[in-house]
Amino acid sequence: MGAFVRIELDNLEGGKGGFGHVYQPDDLNPVDERIKLTEPATVSGRVKVAGHQVLVNGHVETRAQVECDRCLQPVDLPVSADFALEYITGSDYESSQAAELTEDELSVAVFDGEGIDVDEIVKEQILLAAPTRMLCREDCKGICPECGIDRNTGECSCVADDTDPRWAALKNLS
Ligand SMILES: [Zn+2]
Ligand SMILES: [Zn+2]
Repeated sequence: MGAFVRIELDNLEGGKGGFGHVYQPDDLNPVDERIKLTEPATVSGRVKVAGHQVLVNGHVETRAQVECDRCLQPVDLPVSADFALEYITGSDYESSQAAELTEDELSVAVFDGEGIDVDEIVKEQILLAAPTRMLCREDCKGICPECGIDRNTGECSCVADDTDPRWAALKNLS
């Protein structure tokens, strides 16, 4: 599938320009295996060529659903993110590495020298907005490993075996 929005540097007048797009949720879904958009995603921004670098900044606005880490129920995640990115070509990246710049000085993305894929930027911003550990609530009880019931909404008769096998082994020793 081709990109919905790609900024071709050749098409920029005077090396700069603006862009904007509204993605329907299905255009980007699934963002990854646990994140899905529930509302259209709006992106707008500006791009500027500065020497060997391309500077892209803008804003992404949307709403997504993320699976709870413990019970897998969808959790609502509003996304409102500003971004400011720097791109250089692969060959420039290599020559700047040869100049022994540290990684910190080089917080840039590499691109093909011809165009910037805005779809990728939008997906990236949505991923960054989602916490690595998403919980529907602090004390989510999760899913019973025995029968699969959601312990927040129901109880099962499985014997709660909280014994850590390592402790069990110690008990047997004494
Ligand atoms: Zn949960
Ligand atoms: Zn159970």
